[in-house]
Amino acid sequence: MLNHTPLPIAERKALRINPAKTCQPIGALYAALGIHRCLPHSHGSQGCCAYHRSHLTRHYREPVMASTSSFTEGSSVFGGAPNLRQALTTIFEVYDPDVVAIHTTCLSETIGDDIPSILKKAAADGIIPKGKRVFHANTPSYVGSHVTGFANMVRAMVEAFPVPATEKSKAVNVIPGYVEPSDMKEVKHIAEVLGVRVRVFPDTSGVLDGPQTASFRMYPSGGTPVSVLEQLGESRLTLALGAKASEPAARFLEAAHNVPCRVLDLPIGLRATDRFVQTLLEDANGVITHELLNDRGRLVDLMTDMHGYLYGKRVAVWGDPDHVVSLTEFLIDLGMKPICVVTGTPGKSFELRMRNLLKKTAPQAVVRAGADLFFLHQVIKNEPVDLLIGNTYGKYIARAEDVPLVRFGWPILDRVGHADFPSVGYRGGLHLLTRIVNTLLERIDRDAPDEELELVL
Ligand code: SF4
Repeated sequence: MLNHTPLPIAERKALRINPAKTCQPIGALYAALGIHRCLPHSHGSQGCCAYHRSHLTRHYREPVMASTSSFTEGSSVFGGAPNLRQALTTIFEVYDPDVVAIHTTCLSETIGDDIPSILKKAAADGIIPKGKRVFHANTPSYVGSHVTGFANMVRAMVEAFPVPATEKSKAVNVIPGYVEPSDMKEVKHIAEVLGVRVRVFPDTSGVLDGPQTASFRMYPSGGTPVSVLEQLGESRLTLALGAKASEPAARFLEAAHNVPCRVLDLPIGLRATDRFVQTLLEDANGVITHELLNDRGRLVDLMTDMHGYLYGKRVAVWGDPDHVVSLTEFLIDLGMKPICVVTGTPGKSFELRMRNLLKKTAPQAVVRAGADLFFLHQVIKNEPVDLLIGNTYGKYIARAEDVPLVRFGWPILDRVGHADFPSVGYRGGLHLLTRIVNTLLERIDRDAPDEELELVL
C-alpha cells in the first residue's frame, strides 16, 4: 500500500495516517510501573486497558499488569464511580498493591468523572485500606500523546507523595524521562560513578527488564519505593531529563517544595551527555572519574573512526520530541545530514528548538511537530535519504523505499535489546552509534557487486 504514497504533499488538518504517537494512558501506565509495588489502574473501558497493556508487553516482552474500571454502557451514561469503587475493593482484596495509580481515558474524561471526589469518598468508606496509597492523573487521549500521559502521571506523583521537608539533604532528584529501563539504569550508573546520590523516579529498571526466575512475581523488585517518593521535597536539586516528559513534575517540585530544577536534554549522544555530566559535577558536587572519562573516550574514538562512513549521509528521523532533539544533535556531531525530522507529539517549542539545532548544517530540513509518518514518507519520496531512524512503524516506509532502518525510540515491536542496552550516556551512545554504523555497513555489503565486495570495511 505504501508503494502508492503520492509524491505531492497536501496539507491535512483532520486526518492522521500512520501516526507518530500513541495515546496518553500508555505513557501514564508506563510511568506508574516505575513505582515499587504499584498497580496502574485504567479508569475506562476494558478495550483501552487491553490495548495499553498489550502494546507495552509487545515492546518490553514482559507481562504488564494493570486493572480497569471495565466501563459498560451504563457507566458510559451515568458515570464510572461505582465501577471504580468496586475495582478498588477487588484490587486491595486480591492483588494487595501498596499503591494504585489511576489514569483516565477518553471515555471517563468525556463523561467528566470527578476522580478526587470518588477517591475521597472511597477512603472515607474504608475502601482504601490504611497505609495504602491511591492517586490519579488526568490523561485524555484526544490531546497530546503518550509522552504527555507520562508527564501528567509523573507530575501527579509529585503532587501525591512528597512530604514537607524541614531541612535539605545532599541528594539530587532525577526524572529520567520516557526512556527504557536500561536507560534509567545507565543514568543511575553515571551518578554513582560520579559519587552523586540520586533519587530517580519513576524507575522501571528491575520491573520491565526482569530476569527469568521460573516463578511469577506480581510486583517485581524494581521501581522507586514510596519512601523515596516521600523524600523528594528534601532534595537539593531536581534534574528533569527531557523537557516534554519531565519538566512539569520538576516545576511543581520547585514551586511546592522549594527544590530548584534544571531542565536538560535527554543525555543521548556526546554533547547532551556532556551537559548532564557537567551538571552533576557542578551542581551536585560530583567528582569525575577515569571510568567515565574512558567511556567518553571510547565514544569519541568510534565517532572519529567511523566518520568516513557517516559524513554527509542523509537521514530522516521521527519519534518522541525529547528523543528526537538529542538524537538530531548527535547525528549532526557525526557529520550526518538530517533531511526530515518529525514528532507526533504536538508543540511549537519542538520546532523552534530543531530549527535552531539545524540552522547551520541543514537549514532546509523539514521539521514538524504533530506530524504523521505518511507526511514523512512523502517528504523522503521527494528528498531521498540514506537512512531512517525511528520506531517500528517506519518499517513499511523502509521496505517501500528500500532504505535501511535503525529502530530507535518507542515502540519497538519487532526487535529485541532496547530494554537491556541503553541509548543514554556515553555507553548508550556507543551502542546507538554501533547500530547506526553497522546498518550502513550492511547496506554497503548488500549493494556491492561481487567484484567490489570488500572483506574489510
Ligand atoms: S485513544 Fe482513548 S479510547 Fe483509544 S485506547 Fe486510548 S484512551 Fe482508549
